[in-house]
Amino acid sequence: GNSTFSALGTTIFEVMSRLADQHKAINLGQGFPDGNGPPDIVEAAASYLTSGWNQYPPMPGLPALRQALAAHNARFYGLAVDWPTETLVTSGATEALAACLFGLLEPGDEVVLFQPLYDSYAPIIRRAGAIPRFVTMKAPGWTFTEADLEAAFSDKTKLVLINNPQNPAGKVWTLDELALLSRHVIRHDAMALCDEVYEHLVFDGRQHIPLMTLAGMRDRTLRIGSAGKTFSLTGWKVGYVTGPAPLLAPVIKAHQFLTFTTPPNLQHAVALGLNKDDAYFIGLADDMARRRDLLSAGLRAAGLVVLPCAGTYFLTVDLAASGIAMDDRAFCQHLTEKVGVAAIPISAFFEVDAPTHLVRFCFCKRDEVLEEAIRRLGTGI
Ligand code: PMP
Ligand code: GLN
Repeated sequence: GNSTFSALGTTIFEVMSRLADQHKAINLGQGFPDGNGPPDIVEAAASYLTSGWNQYPPMPGLPALRQALAAHNARFYGLAVDWPTETLVTSGATEALAACLFGLLEPGDEVVLFQPLYDSYAPIIRRAGAIPRFVTMKAPGWTFTEADLEAAFSDKTKLVLINNPQNPAGKVWTLDELALLSRHVIRHDAMALCDEVYEHLVFDGRQHIPLMTLAGMRDRTLRIGSAGKTFSLTGWKVGYVTGPAPLLAPVIKAHQFLTFTTPPNLQHAVALGLNKDDAYFIGLADDMARRRDLLSAGLRAAGLVVLPCAGTYFLTVDLAASGIAMDDRAFCQHLTEKVGVAAIPISAFFEVDAPTHLVRFCFCKRDEVLEEAIRRLGTGI
């Protein structure tokens, strides 16, 4: 892998979105909802914008949002969070990840990561001078074994980074998996960084369990969330980090030199969102599960084999099991150019040993958009 940013390619999300635009394809590639977010949150942002909330807010975030974040943690996970010392507002989960990794890692530290993984993780870890160690999960269940963990951990392990629920796998980590991981983290006296941006996109009666809630993990875990996912407002780039003060302090130092702060009008509106009643959060997951089922049925009707999806807004299609000989990148290009539907090759989520028979489809789109994609897929792949 490369340790300089200049050697990196352009992210697959940008590449596929541009290809989709060029061919007027329906974009089921890059993950973003095509609605406009909850109207009350959007209107709140507009009114804060026109009533004077346009200068630098406090560097770690507006108290209103940090308090709402602490209350959200208590309500959903029973986590008692001291907002003045244990919360940080960032410009999206992307900045939160960079601030955490730059704040916590020293050159030579090792970081345990799970593939498939979000594409920003490894480049930032390398740029921090640290060394990624990959655990490769196996489709269709995206499972791993204790031996896999033992091979990845060492006496240099500083941090583990997990994404739960996991993009693009649609995996929701079980309590057993989290407990197994926590034992290794504790044994190696390491820290955990949990990208939980899809915390409210968990389906079929499952519960999202933050690793931070497991025994022995509260003081060694940082938890990241995103208003982009929880309120379907991806362009706002409002994220947040929760965790113990000694771990968060160096992250806040990194944040002050990455972005310093995040637009105050948006922060106020997101505070209103986090304080919404339970019905909003239940409705979000129910609505997304319905769209998952709609797209899944359409993909199956087009002859594609679809893997189970317990959370996130992504479905995985198994090309090999569907009798398609093309690899994932060739298939995505073909599908975008010839069928008019864009998707993402899952090999882009691997740093080593990438499978090339899996493709990701995003289902957080309006019904008529999903239906048109299904119609196009039905005309022949
Ligand atoms: N982590 C994961 C796993 C994601 O899927 C995304 C969004 N695609 C992010 C982080 C980035 O979130 P944000 O837009 O809030 O920066
Ligand atoms: N997180 C979104 C995805 O996985 C897109 C993020 C991005 O475009 N960088 O599709």
